[in-house]
Amino acid sequence: MTEFNPFFKRYSKGLRRVAVVYPNRYVGGISNLGIQRLYFEVNRSEKYLAERFYTDVFDGLRSVENATPLKDFEVALFSIQYEEDVFNAVRILRESGFSGRSVAGGPCVIQNPLPYAKIFDRLFVGEAENAVLDVVEDRAVEGLVPHSYRRRRVELDSEMRSEIIGEGAYGRALIVEIGRGCPRGCRFCVVRQIYSPARWRSAESILEFAEENRKLANKVAIVAPSPTDHPEFKEIVSGLRELGFEVSPSSIRADRFDEEMAELISGTRTLTLAPEAGSERLREALNKGISEDDIISAVEIAESAERIKLYFMFGLPGEEQEDLEEIVRMVERIRRMGKKVSVSANPLVPKPHTPFQWLPYGGDPERDVRENLRELKRKRKFLLSRLRRVADVDVESVERFAVQTIISRGDESVGELIAGGARPSEILKRASEFLEPLPPDEELPWDRIEMGYRKSRLRREFELVMERFG
Ligand code: SF4
Repeated sequence: MTEFNPFFKRYSKGLRRVAVVYPNRYVGGISNLGIQRLYFEVNRSEKYLAERFYTDVFDGLRSVENATPLKDFEVALFSIQYEEDVFNAVRILRESGFSGRSVAGGPCVIQNPLPYAKIFDRLFVGEAENAVLDVVEDRAVEGLVPHSYRRRRVELDSEMRSEIIGEGAYGRALIVEIGRGCPRGCRFCVVRQIYSPARWRSAESILEFAEENRKLANKVAIVAPSPTDHPEFKEIVSGLRELGFEVSPSSIRADRFDEEMAELISGTRTLTLAPEAGSERLREALNKGISEDDIISAVEIAESAERIKLYFMFGLPGEEQEDLEEIVRMVERIRRMGKKVSVSANPLVPKPHTPFQWLPYGGDPERDVRENLRELKRKRKFLLSRLRRVADVDVESVERFAVQTIISRGDESVGELIAGGARPSEILKRASEFLEPLPPDEELPWDRIEMGYRKSRLRREFELVMERFG
């Protein structure tokens, strides 16, 4: 593995070891600036040394830097980006013989720390910038459960003047976080709540950073939940192009895509769009705020794109067979425009902190768990068989997303099962009650965390959707 690592530090006697563990593959971990920030903050201190762990390097049991066994570390900081990563984390903890203090953070822990409480010694809810050493030393900093149950949020700073460059999810690229949080209100999306409020870095500071690191890569991946909403998006992209970078935004909103933007990102072979639903009616239920015209016009404008990648969900509230047919129709329409099409279609996970948190998995509160699962499988089969004729299709299994739903909505009992070595199929059997609808008047497992929004607002949105579309 070749990488450029400006934060590397050699071990010297007296340094205390902190492990930064990404319980998934290197390609994702190296593209994660949150992980890089943990590593940077630990290594800039005089007392500590950080080394990194990924599941495909020594099975996550020895560090990338020096093949040091995890059990030789005092503290291990885990970042849980996807619910299933917790299975890898449990295996790593068990097989490594680690006996120090383990701490977990990342989006899955922020959305609902309870399933992780029996697995890790501490949980971190929020953004850790400039508090990493407090976490390492177990000080009562905001966000560090059980000392605090309040989500920590920060001003975006520019203390990290460089970054580790490796072969990551965006190729060999400089990754630049242009913003955090999202000003939009898509009802299925947990990002709008757990990273609120939306914050943007200035074009000036982004370009300065890119210029300082110009020699490290020819490509910049600009990342944010909704990058094209950055008020200076075009200035940023054209400034990066002037510096000689190829630019690739993590995603593009169809309604923000115009000719100027197409010109700025020309050279991008794949245009990724997320209609989420096939019909205008369901996109309205999701509060997605883009129309079919927006999508079609984005495809028309994107002349350089050979491939259009589309993201859809199914198992939405009020979903009918016609809504699924609308997905097929939209994909066929784009295919007829001469583009290759890739489709990713997955069941909705009704996530905590969203107006859909009270929905059952499968979206229909009138059906029981078994019926909802059966119906989701039928819908999956329909979409696969019809879409395969015109597109490359990626539809994950209904069971896999069911397990994600259970972990994201579960309580300590789910964590106990996972800590005890239960595999996903067993979780699905033994904790399927977390796939049921949740009673709107009852306290939810994650209500204990002060997230900084009013639950009544989510409830009003939920009721509105159920009245109009349910
Ligand atoms: S789905 Fe995207 S645009 Fe919508 S709220 Fe979430 S991050 Fe923002």
